Amino acid sequence: MKDAVLKIENLNVIFHTKYGRANAVTDVNLELRRGEKLGLVGESGSGKSVTSKSIIRLLPSPPAELTGHIWYGDVDLLALPAREMERYRGNRISMIFQEPMVSLNPLYTVENQMGEVLRRHEKGLGRAQIRERVLDMLRRVDIPSPETRLRQYPFELSGGMRQRIMIAMSLLCSPEILIADEPTTALDVTIQAKILDLIHKLNTDYGTSLILITHDLGVIAQTVDYVAVMYAGSIVEKAPVKELFRAPLHPYTAGLLQSIPGSRPDGEELAVIPGTVPSIYRMPGGCAFHNRCGFACERCRAQKPPMTGQNGHYVACWRHGQEEGR
Ligand code: SF4
Repeated sequence: MKDAVLKIENLNVIFHTKYGRANAVTDVNLELRRGEKLGLVGESGSGKSVTSKSIIRLLPSPPAELTGHIWYGDVDLLALPAREMERYRGNRISMIFQEPMVSLNPLYTVENQMGEVLRRHEKGLGRAQIRERVLDMLRRVDIPSPETRLRQYPFELSGGMRQRIMIAMSLLCSPEILIADEPTTALDVTIQAKILDLIHKLNTDYGTSLILITHDLGVIAQTVDYVAVMYAGSIVEKAPVKELFRAPLHPYTAGLLQSIPGSRPDGEELAVIPGTVPSIYRMPGGCAFHNRCGFACERCRAQKPPMTGQNGHYVACWRHGQEEGR
């Protein structure tokens, strides 16, 4: 695991529900290197958020059943007792959620809820020290008038401000890994650009490794170094970001790229990937994309393609070679 801060090995997540068994994530293998910005991209329901929540063990079990390994150094996070996991969650590995209004506690002031993170993870800090640390972090994420914000409740803040508070809170304990799940989805375009700049700056200044989850390939292109594309609970392609945009190998990735506004020559309509993502209760056999793929053949319908490739660019598709996977 040279240079890797996190290594996901053969992760499978099944939900046992009253409707039956739902295969949310299937055989995910992924590495996050020190200081790297990794993008997880795919349509809704592709397994991105379930994968990221598995890392910090936020999925209630039951109904979720997780198998495989998630290595943080020598520690397999999936094997840790729940209490032990508390030492890592919010401290060494932190997460920014999609909707800050839901994630922040409406009954606590900014100072109270940010201070709680420090009280939980850094025992022995006095009230004045906690306040100073919180203020310092608010300044770092460019919150205007931070002293005033300390006394405010989430409903008194704008969407962009709340997202900055979430980011500040997630960085209080200087995590090694920051997971950002659609951090800009609920924000307007100008605030979105500022939040992405901020995440980029924090990665550069602190060396924090980042996992950015989004369905927006424009955000991926601007922000990350390496991309994993998910479809129907599995990774179907992974590559350095420039390589993925220059030469996508999986028909699903190619379809996603051709559907980005501005990606087509003048006058040409944006491409649409026909059909929809299969239900997690009824995954098709073989390649899960075969019902939507213009290149599907008998083999695609019968056998699931393995991940193969080289030089950091890997794909799960029968149209491509069979070299060893990463
Ligand atoms: Fe299409 Fe077959 Fe490749 Fe799946 S394996 S993406 S169906 S060509």
